[in-house]
Amino acid sequence: MSGAGSAVGVLALQGDFEAHARVLRGLGARCPAVRKAGQLDGLDGLVIPGGESTTLIKLMDAFDFWEPLDAFIASGRPVFGTCAGAILLASEVLNPEQRCLGAMDITVERNSYGRQLDSFEGAGRFRPHSGGETEIEMVFIRAPRITRMGAGVEALGECRGDTVVARQGGLLAATFHPELSAGAQVHRHFLEMTAAAAAGRS
Ligand code: GLN
Repeated sequence: MSGAGSAVGVLALQGDFEAHARVLRGLGARCPAVRKAGQLDGLDGLVIPGGESTTLIKLMDAFDFWEPLDAFIASGRPVFGTCAGAILLASEVLNPEQRCLGAMDITVERNSYGRQLDSFEGAGRFRPHSGGETEIEMVFIRAPRITRMGAGVEALGECRGDTVVARQGGLLAATFHPELSAGAQVHRHFLEMTAAAAAGRS
């Protein structure tokens, strides 16, 4: 179940949505840009890219995305949040507190690595459900940290002692930017989740 042919939208309000679309298309997915909530219809999954979560929140207010996104998640269609997108998926955001979708049972602290480590690259481990732990290059940009994970949340990746990939059912969060390094392991895993969820619906 590769997910090739799935329709995986990328929320294109702000941030580096193009880079995600390139990776997903490279894996065979159809990848429409989502700028209006109505464009969520017909998608098998959605990526919420990194960027600046405060800006993303304002745009989600302006374009009335909150309820449609809640409904999309409630329908069981997978969502992959990276960096600011992971912040949006969380149930609690710190530094400072801010609105979030409350979809994943995680607490996330924004800009958690401080000024010295504003941006860095590191080798981390990733364990997709399809098996096999791999080492992948991870790019962190003013990254958040997952500081709490509820019992239903599974750690799929670590870097420097932190959980950097977490999954809860159809929801996947990465605190780094998997679209910026070679190898598409995390996106491939998300497409597998998307295909499995689509098969479950039909
Ligand atoms: N620091 C950003 C925020 O708090 C996230 C950075 C990113 O997405 N690369 O929203």
